[in-house]
Amino acid sequence: MNTISIAIHGGAGTLVKGMMTPEKEKAYQEALQKALDMGYQVLEKGGNAVDAVEKSVKALEDSHLFNAGKGSVFTATETHEMDASIMDGKNLEAGAVSLITGIKNPVSLAKDVMEKSEHVFLAGEGAMQFAKANKYSLEEPDYFYDELRHQQWLAIKDTDNFQLDHSVKKDSKFGTVGAVACDANGNIAAATSTGGMTNKKFGRVGDSPMIGAGNYANNKTCAVSCTGSGEFFIRGVVAYDVSCLIEYKGLSLEAAANEVINKRILEIGGDGGLIAVDTQGNIAMPFNTEGMYRGVKTSKGIDVISIYK
Ligand code: ASP
Repeated sequence: MNTISIAIHGGAGTLVKGMMTPEKEKAYQEALQKALDMGYQVLEKGGNAVDAVEKSVKALEDSHLFNAGKGSVFTATETHEMDASIMDGKNLEAGAVSLITGIKNPVSLAKDVMEKSEHVFLAGEGAMQFAKANKYSLEEPDYFYDELRHQQWLAIKDTDNFQLDHSVKKDSKFGTVGAVACDANGNIAAATSTGGMTNKKFGRVGDSPMIGAGNYANNKTCAVSCTGSGEFFIRGVVAYDVSCLIEYKGLSLEAAANEVINKRILEIGGDGGLIAVDTQGNIAMPFNTEGMYRGVKTSKGIDVISIYK
C-alpha cells in the first residue's frame, strides 16, 4: 500500500510566537487537528484523495477562525464573496467557483462543478444558479459574521486599501484554507477555499479558485494549495510553477516548492506559502511569512500541527 498522507493550511501571515493568547492558540491547534483528522480518516478507510481534501477543507470552512466559509472576510460593500477550487491529480479534472455568497461550503460547490457540470469554473450569478439547481440551501449573512473580521473591515472601509486578513493588524492573522492529500492508490488531490481579502471590490478574484495559480494537482508531479497575496500568486502561476519545476527540471517536491516560495514569488513581491504532496506521500510546506497555520499527518506516523517558523 502507498503511504497515505494529508497536509492542510489555514493561511500564512504575521504569525509571531507570543502574539496570541494561549487560549486562542489552543483553539487554532484544535481546529486544525480536527480538520486534519477528518481528512486522514477518509484516507485510512480507503477513501480517495479528492474526498479527503474536501472533508478537511469543509471542516476548516465550518470554523469561524479561518477566512473561508463561516468567518469569511468582508468585501467593500460589507458582504461576503467566496472563492474555492478542487483538482483531481488522477485525471486532471477540476472545479472552481468564485464570487459566491451564502454557500456554507464553497469547496463542495467547486467539487460539484467538477463532477456534475461540463465546466471547470463558474462565477457569480451563474455559480449561484448552479448551486440552486443542485439544491444548495443558502445561509443568512449572520452565519458568516465574525466580530474581528468586521472590525478589520471597519478600519479600512471607504478607502482604496484591501488587505490580507492575517497580515496587517497584529491581532488578526487568519486565512485562506486548503488541503492536499495522497491516497492508498497513490492518487493526489488539492482543494483551496477563501473569503479573499478584506475590503476587496470590483468583483476582485484572487488566486484560490484559479487552477494553476492557487490550486493544482497532477499525479505526474504534485498537488498544491496556496495562501498569500493572491495578485502575486496569480502572476507567478505558483501552483503550476511548482509542478513544472518537478516535471521539466526534475526537482524534488521539496526543492521545487522552496524555489517558488522562497525565490521566484519573493522576487516579484509576493508573500505567502503553500502545501504540496506527491504520489509517494512526501509533503512540503514552505512559506516566506512569519508563520503559516498548518498540519500534516501520514501513515508513517507523522502527526503535527504548527503555526510558527
Ligand atoms: N490568496 C487569497 C486571496 O488572495 C488570500 C489568502 O491566502 O488569505 O484571495
